[in-house]
Amino acid sequence: MMNVVSFNLLENGVDSIIEGMNYFISDSKTSRKYKFALLLVAHGVELILKERLARINDILIYANIDKLDRLDRNDTESLPTVSLLDAIERLKHAKVAIDPKWVMVCRRMQKKRNEIQHLRVSLDIDEAKNIVGETIDFLIPFMRDELGKDLAQLVSDSPGIKDAIADVRHHFNLHFREAYNKMRAEEKRLNEKQIEYRIDWCPNCQRELVLISGEIPNSIAKCYYCDNVHQVYICDHCKRRCINPQIDAYVDGPDDDAAVIEIVECQDCFIDRFGLRLRS
Ligand SMILES: [Zn+2]
Ligand SMILES: [Zn+2]
Repeated sequence: MMNVVSFNLLENGVDSIIEGMNYFISDSKTSRKYKFALLLVAHGVELILKERLARINDILIYANIDKLDRLDRNDTESLPTVSLLDAIERLKHAKVAIDPKWVMVCRRMQKKRNEIQHLRVSLDIDEAKNIVGETIDFLIPFMRDELGKDLAQLVSDSPGIKDAIADVRHHFNLHFREAYNKMRAEEKRLNEKQIEYRIDWCPNCQRELVLISGEIPNSIAKCYYCDNVHQVYICDHCKRRCINPQIDAYVDGPDDDAAVIEIVECQDCFIDRFGLRLRS
């Protein structure tokens, strides 16, 4: 096995998380700072995932593992390493147990990270705490099971960090429970009125917290977690109401004003047709 990685991924990852959590502790009320909390925590998670890859083989942290001439010359500083999501893919291929729900959380975190970096969007404290809290909820058991490390212990020398971590986790869990309870209450109401409904995934936050009822035909549905409003479609295949359809457009005939036929299929039918397993 090559032993070219001299830097400590785990230590740097935990440092990055501590730096990020510090933004939740400082007194300043400006919301601009919370984006840095998310960027730093995301970076920390990425490094910790790479630590797991490096424990299989150091080479796995590099992006182009087939073009590593410089590795032989010990010139690794400028070599690009894998991204957060690629690290997860590699871990999955290496049969490292990684909770599919955490993969969703990481995707969402990466999306936010890109938005912050490229679109200069801001992030309010509520959203920052929810995303960070949820990812740390998964990071703690991952570090324990896969790296034999206790995050709480690793941050124990940094004042206030343990409490800040507990706070963001609590914040997320509270928000999730509230959304879940609201959806359950609505379900109860629909059951009592004997109105058909189904629960679907929110394409925005990837949570199964959208309730689509047949109460109002061609209605819209709102996600109880992220408040996003979605258009409801009727699936051509199974005739169920869905919010995240696959739409295929066909142009029929030679003339310019040819008809465009849209085939609306729900995610379930789409999965059936292509045998894809997008969810677990
Ligand atoms: Zn949502
Ligand atoms: Zn369908």
